[in-house]
Amino acid sequence: MNRHPDDSPADAEATRLIHAGRAPDRFGGAVNIPPFRASTILFPTLAELDNYDPKMRAVRYGRTGNPSSHAFEEAMAELEQGHGAVSFGSGVQAITTSLLAFTRQGDHVLIADTAYAPTRSFANGILARAGIVVEYFDPCIGDGIRNLLRPRTRVVFLESPGSLSFEVQDVPAITRTVAAADPEIIVMIDNTWAAGLLFRPLLHGVHVSIQSATKYVAGHSDASLGAAICARPDHWLRLKKAAVELGACAGPDDLFLGLRGLRSLPTRMRQHQETGLVLGRWLAQRPEVTRMRHPALPGCPGHEYWKRDFTGACGLFAFEIAPVPRPALAAMVDGMRHFGMGYSWGGFESLILPSTPNSIRTAVPWDGGELIRLHAGLEDPEDLIRDLEAGFDRLAVALANP
Ligand SMILES: *Cc1c(COP(=O)(O)O)cnc(C)c1O
Repeated sequence: MNRHPDDSPADAEATRLIHAGRAPDRFGGAVNIPPFRASTILFPTLAELDNYDPKMRAVRYGRTGNPSSHAFEEAMAELEQGHGAVSFGSGVQAITTSLLAFTRQGDHVLIADTAYAPTRSFANGILARAGIVVEYFDPCIGDGIRNLLRPRTRVVFLESPGSLSFEVQDVPAITRTVAAADPEIIVMIDNTWAAGLLFRPLLHGVHVSIQSATKYVAGHSDASLGAAICARPDHWLRLKKAAVELGACAGPDDLFLGLRGLRSLPTRMRQHQETGLVLGRWLAQRPEVTRMRHPALPGCPGHEYWKRDFTGACGLFAFEIAPVPRPALAAMVDGMRHFGMGYSWGGFESLILPSTPNSIRTAVPWDGGELIRLHAGLEDPEDLIRDLEAGFDRLAVALANP
């Protein structure tokens, strides 16, 4: 409905993302759809109130859908090549609503052990209290998932590459195995790392692809936004209904920022990838680094699946060093000039974050060293390398003078 009239399926992806969800003719010629700040929508007559048809994408009440959310959802569905999307106020809200929408008491849910920690908290808390049996599995399981399926398994939840440790999952093997065993099982994935751009789960048999658009889609560390994109119309309806019932929705200004970010996503991503690879290759040569965890570099678990299934890499990856005392680690990371220390990622700025998967994992105990996650931002790569080099120097001084 909002498609640019000249849009054709043959257009390249970056071109399609420029047009997706836009409607200058409906908004006074404005290139961008203005943030639609409205809760109450007035109906001029009782007849129009009575004849409201939700399928017409008319607006009945701000929370249940409005031009800002419709445009964002249309663009996200275009990005992930799905039937439709549902927008959320955060990535976590997209995850929790999706899990609730497709489960009921007594069901069994399989979740990759490398899922984002708040996904696990929700599953272990609210989902478990609702009587849903949660089980974690080795992200590298592949078609071995077959052995974990039970008669009441309803959802298999993937995240690839995994949070913190970046194992790339064999998604096609998992979806094939699950579909052969029971076509009613819903396979979901947290597709935030790929930003919907570098990997297309819905084309590999996944039913619901979920993203924290807070990350690369918004892209500037200033919005909180989520999306769940469904391959099938019946799944979309079910998810939308759950979102409305749970009161889940995104704010108009964040939707505006998400749509604006989407226009430059492919362009920004190329630079994040390039800088991430420059840093990753440099780090791989450092004597301090015991293991690289960059999906696009050899040695990362599942690197072969990244090569087969992904069209590129973003700027988020990790490396390991031998365990060091906390004060020495602090000497390294506290003095960075360009790398900020903080959660989230996907913005224009570089980030560094020591992390501890050992406190989170249950299916596969963490046997790695000190894990340091980096987000390669849009700074000059040489400046970032100098920053890391100075950090390693401070680490060496601290280790020599405990
Ligand atoms: C950040 C993140 C989320 C949650 O996103 P919010 O928008 O902050 O709720 C979910 N999954 C992954 C992999 C993330 O990195």
